[in-house]
Amino acid sequence: MDTPCSCSDCGTEFLFSKEEQRIWYEEYKLPIFARAVRCLACRRRLRNSLQSTEKTASGRPLDSES
Ligand SMILES: [Zn+2]
Repeated sequence: MDTPCSCSDCGTEFLFSKEEQRIWYEEYKLPIFARAVRCLACRRRLRNSLQSTEKTASGRPLDSES
């Protein structure tokens, strides 16, 4: 069932669709009762920033800093 939510970051009202809920449950292994707290745009932005952080961390050996 599509669940109406409001984004905790930007306050936008959005629908957490049943398809997304299925993906969260089946692919991300999140609990079936997990609910989105951010809209898709904010989640994308967050994911991108996480990915670039990981890329930076893995692309640069720890001992090259000193
Ligand atoms: Zn948002």
